[in-house]
Amino acid sequence: MIPRYKDIIELVKKGATVEAQEKILELREAALELQEENMQLKEELSKLKQVINKKENMVYHAPFYWIEDEDSKDGPFCQNCFDSVGKSIRLQKNDNDCWNCLNCNKSYTGPNFKEHNIEELGIGIGMNNIFEDYI
Ligand SMILES: [Zn+2]
Repeated sequence: MIPRYKDIIELVKKGATVEAQEKILELREAALELQEENMQLKEELSKLKQVINKKENMVYHAPFYWIEDEDSKDGPFCQNCFDSVGKSIRLQKNDNDCWNCLNCNKSYTGPNFKEHNIEELGIGIGMNNIFEDYI
């Protein structure tokens, strides 16, 4: 418990200077602890303000979330993680505009995703050539 200023004054008045000094030291120690705690709380508050700020700028363009402000656009971020637990998890890009979340393992396809078919891969053409040789 933090010593009260009033109690220290009482000790000084009684001439109990050693006890008063001890109480003053306790008071100093408590003040230092409070200062440290205050700094930690300020840091935490600052981080939370950044998170809130980030969430306010979170914009959903299906199927992703983006962090947008006047002059920047960051992302994309996972819709599943953001809507379920409020986490902004950056998606990892794979080939063919496929995106993957390393947190929930959900996959997304972007607007430039193209479904492959056999002819595009050249397999169809190769197969036809093989059959032509036998005819
Ligand atoms: Zn996710």
